[in-house]
Amino acid sequence: RLGHDDDTCIFYDASFTARLQKEQDLSALFLPSLENEDFKIYLQPKVRLADGRVMGAEALVRWDHPLKGMIYPSDFIPLFEKNGSICQLDSYIFTKVCSVLERWIKEGREIFPISVNLSRQNFKKPGILEDFAGIAGQHHVPTGLIELELTESVFFEDQDIENIKGQIKEMHRLGFLCSLDDFGSGFSSLGLLKEFDVDTIKLDRRFFLDISQKKAKDVVSCLLELSGKLKVHTVAEGIETSEQLDFLRSINCELVQGYIFSRPLPVSDFEAWADSQ
Ligand code: C2E
Ligand code: CA
Ligand code: CA
Ligand code: CA
Repeated sequence: RLGHDDDTCIFYDASFTARLQKEQDLSALFLPSLENEDFKIYLQPKVRLADGRVMGAEALVRWDHPLKGMIYPSDFIPLFEKNGSICQLDSYIFTKVCSVLERWIKEGREIFPISVNLSRQNFKKPGILEDFAGIAGQHHVPTGLIELELTESVFFEDQDIENIKGQIKEMHRLGFLCSLDDFGSGFSSLGLLKEFDVDTIKLDRRFFLDISQKKAKDVVSCLLELSGKLKVHTVAEGIETSEQLDFLRSINCELVQGYIFSRPLPVSDFEAWADSQ
């Protein structure tokens, strides 16, 4: 029926327009918020299963807007990847992470690497790694304390394998650690391991959602065996239950990140949490 179709069409159009409007609003808020330091880093620990020690942390951004409240990455990272703001945001987060490490070193705290998520766009920017190394230097932070997390999409959306290999080499030349994020969420995961020289792979949380099933267990144990052979570290991501943890213990998984140990926390809360461990 024509009238019905029209309604549907108008409804669809309205929601599309609303989304566009929302994107425009958020885009306009970006620079003032950057200036105002509304973007905060939250830290989530990576825990070594063998002895429960915190071996690292991941920096995850939160947008703490004075009027809009807390905004989570899924609501703005895709937009900022589209409109290009992600490069400025990633550099800002990188700098903030350097200040945290600088303070930890000054205060004589126990030090471990912090990882920063590097978007595809930023990764492709010429000179970005040199810039990052320069920022670390200004903060007197050894680059070996910073890990750059690249998601799988960096690799399979880009066919220029030699270029990516060169960037990873450059990362290592400058002393950064490199990890392959969301491993297993894409299609070409195993091929990536053969091609690229990363220090760590982070097994996507989807591997562990149905871990009570034998097949899921078999897949994860094989991946661990593989990473052992390739001499890369493994982090199991998104671990929430003791069933998942027990299984990971039984197959000697090295590192775990997930709510079962801690949610991502504001830096001062993270420090208190780490002190209490
Ligand atoms: P990611 O890099 O895979 O980060 C892990 C995500 O899983 C985080 O979501 C974290 O809060 C969540 N998580 C951790 N443990 C658990 C768990 O046990 N269960 C569940 N269900 N989730 C868990 P978050 O903080 O919302 O970030 C989402 C994504 O946004 C990140 O995924 C990353 O791709 C991106 N992102 C976050 N911060 C940045 C940033 O500073 N720069 C860039 N380029 N991307 C970022
Ligand atoms: Ca990550
Ligand atoms: Ca991940
Ligand atoms: Ca993810």
